[in-house]
Amino acid sequence: MITKKQINDAIKKFNIKGKCIILHSSLKSFGDVVEGGPLSIINVFIDNGCTLITPTFSYEFLINPPEGKKYSRNGYDYSVKITENREIFTTNSDCISKNEMGIIPYTMLHMKERIRGYHPVCSFTGIGPFASEIIKTQKPMDVFAPLRELALFNGYILLLGVNLNKLTALHLAEQMAGRNMFIRWALNTDGLPMEVECGGCSEGFLNLDIFFNGIDKKITIGKSLWRLFPIGSLLKKTARIIQITPQITHCHDIKCIKCADMIAGGPEKYREMSNK
Ligand SMILES: [Zn+2]
Repeated sequence: MITKKQINDAIKKFNIKGKCIILHSSLKSFGDVVEGGPLSIINVFIDNGCTLITPTFSYEFLINPPEGKKYSRNGYDYSVKITENREIFTTNSDCISKNEMGIIPYTMLHMKERIRGYHPVCSFTGIGPFASEIIKTQKPMDVFAPLRELALFNGYILLLGVNLNKLTALHLAEQMAGRNMFIRWALNTDGLPMEVECGGCSEGFLNLDIFFNGIDKKITIGKSLWRLFPIGSLLKKTARIIQITPQITHCHDIKCIKCADMIAGGPEKYREMSNK
């Protein structure tokens, strides 16, 4: 069994007491039972004065593009129609794409003191002293604002048993390098379609690993490898790598339209396909 003490020792060893952290996690990565389950992992961070942020994406709020809204280079196949739930997202919602996000984000989202950002599809949720300040920056068309805020707090990214393809902040690095994020659609609080900004394909982020040697600190607990990155330096370094070698973010699928469109710079926001 993995004990709370082992989690606590890792926080001490990483020297992140009181720090703001975005957590990407896999409970299964431990390969063993964790004492107290996912809730106790979160609580050990909270007891150490940390502010914990995690992605709590909810793809069920996506709707089809409204008539006439067809951005080019948007990593989107307009011939495919999705089944719409037509539910209205609010920050009180507990809906999450649990299979994709995992049990730790699911658990945090169901804690009563949590704060969720206003983005129907790609919200972040936080808990701890600075959660409100960080999370409240999120807007439908500024999806990664909480991560920029986290950088202002000299925050960290913690990969808990997951790989670089889960590292959402690398999409912010793409934005910093000059790329536009993709446009998707969801209902606003009046039940009307609105545009929401979303990141693209993350699989190619695995290619960046060779550049990250020495940026991260590593600890292994059970079978779970924990990697800690200071968010500010990671973002700046990655943005520059992407500018110099844009193809680096392409995944293994040569036909991936998301990767192709993102590498070309992302959607041409103000030029709609119909006007071309
Ligand atoms: Zn791809």
